[in-house]
Amino acid sequence: MALSKLDQLYRQVILDHSNHPHHKGLRQEATDHLIEMNNPTCGDVIQLQVFVDEAGTITDVRFDGHGCSISMASASMMSDVLIGKTLKEGQQLAEDFSQLVQGNAVNEAPLADAALLGGVAKFPARIKCATLAWKAFERATAPNGKDETHE
Ligand code: ZN
Repeated sequence: MALSKLDQLYRQVILDHSNHPHHKGLRQEATDHLIEMNNPTCGDVIQLQVFVDEAGTITDVRFDGHGCSISMASASMMSDVLIGKTLKEGQQLAEDFSQLVQGNAVNEAPLADAALLGGVAKFPARIKCATLAWKAFERATAPNGKDETHE
C-alpha cells in the first residue's frame, strides 16, 4: 500500500536531515558538556558537545558519529531545536521528545522538525535510535553529581 502524501513528506524531511545533517562536526574548543553514547542494538554512536553561556543559554550544539538515518536525523533536528534555548527548556524538550516517541501526546510545536520522529512510536526497535541524541544531551547537561533535577 502506498504511503500517504504526509508520510512521504515526513520521510523526506528525515532523509534530508540524515543526508545533510545540521551542526555535524565537533568544535575544537573545550566544553564542560561533552559526551559519547551509543545504542548497541543498532550500532549508532554519537559524540555530543553542548556550549552554554553564563546565563544558561545554549549557544551551540555539535555532534559527530555514525549510525542509522533515524539516529543521525534526530541529532540534526535536536541541534536545530536546542540552540538558543536555556538548559532548562532543553531538558523539558528532551522529556517531551521521549514521551512523544513512546506514543504519548505532547505539545509538538516546540519540537519543530523533531516532532516528525513521533512516528517511530510504531516501531519500538527504533525508539532508541531516535532518543540517542536526546539522552546524550540530558546526560551531558545533567547537574554535576546528579542524574536528575528535582526543583
Ligand atoms: Zn539506529
